[in-house]
Amino acid sequence: MILLDGTKLAEEIKTELGEKIKKLTDEGKKVPGLVTILVGENPASQSYVNSKGKACQKLGMLSKTERLPETISQEELISIIYKYNNDPAFHGILVQLPLPKHINEDVIVESIIPAKDVDGFNPVNVGNLSIGKDTFYPCTPYGIVEMLKRYKIETSGKHAVVVGRSNIVGKPIANMLVQKKEGANCVVTICHSAAKDLKKFTLQADILIAAIGRANYITADMVREGAVVIDVGINRVEDKTTEKGYKIVGDVDFENVAPKTSYITPVPGGVGKMTIAMLLVNTYEAYLKIER
Ligand code: NAP
Repeated sequence: MILLDGTKLAEEIKTELGEKIKKLTDEGKKVPGLVTILVGENPASQSYVNSKGKACQKLGMLSKTERLPETISQEELISIIYKYNNDPAFHGILVQLPLPKHINEDVIVESIIPAKDVDGFNPVNVGNLSIGKDTFYPCTPYGIVEMLKRYKIETSGKHAVVVGRSNIVGKPIANMLVQKKEGANCVVTICHSAAKDLKKFTLQADILIAAIGRANYITADMVREGAVVIDVGINRVEDKTTEKGYKIVGDVDFENVAPKTSYITPVPGGVGKMTIAMLLVNTYEAYLKIER
C-alpha cells in the first residue's frame, strides 16, 4: 500500500508556482492576484480564507481579503464582485461559501466572470468541463486528478466509482475522470444516498472516491483488493484524548481499508492539502489567460 501524500505534493506544486512567480517579479512583470470575499464571521470560513491568503502571499502573489458584514445585501455583494470583475490587478475572485441565507449563492457564483472564476463553479465553466473544453476545474477534484497524475496511477479504462454527487466534489470529479483525455478516460459510476446497495458498486471500483461527509462510512468489506482509494471526507469525531476534544477523520475507515488498497489518501494530509494548492494553480492559469 502506498500513501498518497497530499502534504508533500501540495508543497511541490507550490514550490513550482513560486518559481514561476519569482520569474515574473524578476522581470518586473505584474503578478497574479486573488481576491477572496468573506461574508460574515463563520469561524471555519475565516480559517479557510486566512489559509488561502497566506498561501498566496508566500508565493509572491497579490492577495486581498474583502471582509463584509453578515447583513450585506445581495445587490451590494454583486456590485463588489462586479468591481473586481473589472479590476486588472486581480485574476481570480473567490467568494467563500456558505453565504448567509438571504443571499442566493447561485446568483453570486454567476456574477463572477468565468475568466476569473478560479473555483470553477460558474455554470459556464461547469458546462465547459462537462463537454471537455478548456475551463477552471473546481479545486478539490482538480487536486485529486493531479494527485493521480503525479503518482502515475493509470486511469484509462479503469472503473472509477464516485460516492457523492455534490456540485463541488462528486459531479465535477466524475465529469473530469470520464473525459477522453490523458489522466482521465475512466468508466465512471456515480453513487448517492438513494443507492440501494452501495457495496455492490464500491466493490467494482478500481478507483474509489468517497465524498460523502460521513465518518468512516466506507468499510473494508466495501473495497476491492488492490483498489486506489481517495478519501475526500473531512469529519470531526469526538476524541477526548486530544486537546480540542475532537479529531478529523475521513469518509473511509482508514485503519481497516488501507491494507487492502494499492494507494490511499490519509485524512488529514491527503486531498485537503491539495485543494489550496490547486486554487493557486487556477489563479496562475487565470493570470496567463488574461495577461496573454
Ligand atoms: P455534500 O454536498 O453533503 O454531498 C454529500 C454526498 O454524499 C451527497 O451526494 C449525498 O447523496 C451522498 N451521500 C450521503 N450519504 C450517503 C450514503 N449513505 N450513501 C451514498 N451516498 C451518500 O458534501 P460535499 O460538499 O461533497 O463534501 C463531502 C465530504 O468532503 C465532506 O466531508 C466535506 O467536508 C469534504 N470536503 C473536503 C474537501 C477537501 O478539500 N478535502 C472539499 C470539499 C468537501 P444525496 O445527493 O443523495 O444527498
